[in-house]
Amino acid sequence: MDPFSHYMVAYAAGRKANASLNKMRAITLAAVIPDIDGFSIFLGIQAFRDIHGGPVHSLLIGVVLALIITLGFYIYSRENVALFAFSGVFIHLALDIPNTLGYVRPQDGLFYFWPFSDYAIRLQNQVPDAANWHIVIISTIFILSMVFFLLLVRKREYAWRIWLDERKFLKKKTQSE
Ligand SMILES: [Zn+2]
Repeated sequence: MDPFSHYMVAYAAGRKANASLNKMRAITLAAVIPDIDGFSIFLGIQAFRDIHGGPVHSLLIGVVLALIITLGFYIYSRENVALFAFSGVFIHLALDIPNTLGYVRPQDGLFYFWPFSDYAIRLQNQVPDAANWHIVIISTIFILSMVFFLLLVRKREYAWRIWLDERKFLKKKTQSE
């Protein structure tokens, strides 16, 4: 799943829960962080295929990532964001399930129980015409995320501003001019 959809689904969940700013940050950060293994693309396409969706997408590493985020926010703000950090990671892992449909090699899948079990979720082994399902599910979630994003923009709510308020920069610019 693309980072934008991950982010927006988590954003919607946090919003629904009336989360504070730190909790919104925790859930959105946790919802995109497992894809850091995607940076393996810089090591080449083969490394990307081997590493992306591997151990970093397991429940074990997911729990570790959520704990690190929780601890970070606690040190920084004394706020307990654990529920949101964990929810974010699990939202990520759940959203990636239809993604296995797009993997080219039939042996590919998501090893959620790494390193305890070799069991991998491979939807292409469960459903016929997996490639078509992949496209339909992925694009539906992406389009819904985009629609939600734009609806918020119409209400003058900008999903990125929990992280980066561009108005501060713009103000500085106009002041210095
Ligand atoms: Zn992922």
